[in-house]
Amino acid sequence: MSRILFWILLIGLVGFAIRAKLKALSARQQPPPQHEPPRRQPVAEIETMTQCAHCGIHFPASEAVHADGHDYCSPGHVRLPPQ
Ligand SMILES: [Zn+2]
Repeated sequence: MSRILFWILLIGLVGFAIRAKLKALSARQQPPPQHEPPRRQPVAEIETMTQCAHCGIHFPASEAVHADGHDYCSPGHVRLPPQ
C-alpha cells in the first residue's frame, strides 16, 4: 500500500514540476510588457514675434501696438521716433 502512495506522490510531483516548467517557458516567450511612450506635453501654440520700432526689443506680435505701419512694444514708444 505504501508503494502505491509513493508512486502516486512521485507522479504528482513530476506532473507539478513539468507544469511549472511549461508555465515558466510560456511566460518567457511572451514579449515584455510594452511601456507606453512618454506622452509629450502639447506644444504651446507658437506665437509670431515682432520687434519694437523704437527700442528694438522682440516681443509677441499679439502684444504689439500698431501705429504708422510699425510695431511698438508699448503705447509710450509709439510717441517716440523709430530708430
Ligand atoms: Zn519699445
